[in-house]
Amino acid sequence: MGRVPADLTVGDDGLVIAEVFGPTFQGEGPSIGRRAGFVRLGRCNLDCAWCDTPYTWDWDRYDPAEELHGQSVASVLDQLVDMAPEIVVVTGGEPLLQQRRLIRLLEGCAARGWPVEIETNGTIAPDDRLVSLVAQWNVSAKLANSGVPLDKRIRPDALAALRATNRAAFKFVVTQPSDLDEIAALVDAHGLAPVWIMPEGTDATTLLDRARVLSDPVLARGWNLTPRLHVLLWGDQRGR
Ligand code: SF4
Repeated sequence: MGRVPADLTVGDDGLVIAEVFGPTFQGEGPSIGRRAGFVRLGRCNLDCAWCDTPYTWDWDRYDPAEELHGQSVASVLDQLVDMAPEIVVVTGGEPLLQQRRLIRLLEGCAARGWPVEIETNGTIAPDDRLVSLVAQWNVSAKLANSGVPLDKRIRPDALAALRATNRAAFKFVVTQPSDLDEIAALVDAHGLAPVWIMPEGTDATTLLDRARVLSDPVLARGWNLTPRLHVLLWGDQRGR
């Protein structure tokens, strides 16, 4: 799991891509509702039990030859131009596995006036050059509900580096209200703020039911709540 297929070759100016899609809306977190172009990169260094994009990394269930491809930065930028995005969201998988290669893409976005958000699981510290090119970090550190061992999913040095950018929001995927105590312990231990809580769910009914249950406890703790707008609009469709 989480490996690059041995036969996938990518040039120096290329990225391992799962999909480039849009225009759509940023569906989660501080920029919810903004018109966006999405670049979803392949590979991940974790294997969360409820992952909603397993086709980016789980080669026990998916064929990497079908799911991933190498694509030049110029070609990705051409696709984004056609979307007329307000923002560009780089997601995955885990985008920071390719952070050196991302610099040229983000320089291209900056030249076109597009702010870039990177969605990361918070286990890899970003390089300084990349930090200077990112408008917003959406850091989704994983809880025990992911099934990933603690020492693999919580990396204090990486969280500290992301916090130090002063442009990070910490978003937690919650399956039940008891998860909030675990989040509070992480927030206190690592000084994480602002906090966004997002119910887990890939259909509108599950998502709204969980959001209603979470709403008052989240307000009581002084945190923010985000739905998943794309799930409310389009369910579990890929590439929306
Ligand atoms: S970190 Fe994200 S992409 Fe990776 S397995 Fe977990 S949910 Fe999926």
